[in-house]
Amino acid sequence: MERDYLILAHQYYDSSIRHLESEDDLRLSYAALDMRLAIEATIYKKCEMLGQFKEELPKNVWQPKPLLLRIEQLHPELNTKMKIAVAIAESDAPPSNESEWIQFPIDIKILGKDYGTLGGYVHMTTPHDLESVSYDKIRKKLAEIIERWAILVKSWHFTVTPRLVTNNACKSCGTRLLYSEDFIIQRKTIRCLSQDCGAEYKINQKLELEYLSAFEIPCMHCSNVMDVHKSQIGKYIDQVVIGKQPSLILECPVCAGKTKGFVGISYESKPHGKI
Ligand SMILES: [Zn+2]
Ligand SMILES: [Zn+2]
Repeated sequence: MERDYLILAHQYYDSSIRHLESEDDLRLSYAALDMRLAIEATIYKKCEMLGQFKEELPKNVWQPKPLLLRIEQLHPELNTKMKIAVAIAESDAPPSNESEWIQFPIDIKILGKDYGTLGGYVHMTTPHDLESVSYDKIRKKLAEIIERWAILVKSWHFTVTPRLVTNNACKSCGTRLLYSEDFIIQRKTIRCLSQDCGAEYKINQKLELEYLSAFEIPCMHCSNVMDVHKSQIGKYIDQVVIGKQPSLILECPVCAGKTKGFVGISYESKPHGKI
């Protein structure tokens, strides 16, 4: 088995085409699965190109879209269009045999959409859809995705050493915040790389980080004011939805005192005259 993601991406991509061209409906799910693996290998190749910086990525983040978001923040050059042309000339003669390598960027939205669509084809058709499923439609959709990724799977990869900014810690989880100087020239926000955090920071005019908090809560143990991030609110609501007793625990970064938050219900007095 090959150990190079670029070669693996090519192999799974070609295998996906073979399944699709077999005209066998039973092999459509294999075509979708192999195309998914080709996409994963393409993103993992970019991950490898991070070199020593790949250690900064959380190990439990494996899905292509969240991974590419993090790769872009650390090393935006790995997902921008670049071209290199090399020509060899003998003495003063004009160069012949010019070679060109082009790196094409992957659109994060298309990545998420295509990867999700392919995921839908690797399962058994549900009872509700069994009568109406159209294998021709699936075949057409797969052909579209395979064509769109032809150039991306086989694109060359360039790398230069990223200029990383490393001197801030996340206000939400304490993890070191890492981003490339070039990334903040292109984007207005950066994210905490940690999988469970998702805190976001706005880059202001002076290229400083501004924590995007949802609201502030004073610490009851000292005079510090703590930020509550929108991802913490999201997690709280997720707990409510799955029927768990929700809680929001904040640890003060100054005094380490803990504060627990709850959503409450308040009863108001009823209007006069109503029973
Ligand atoms: Zn964080
Ligand atoms: Zn405190």
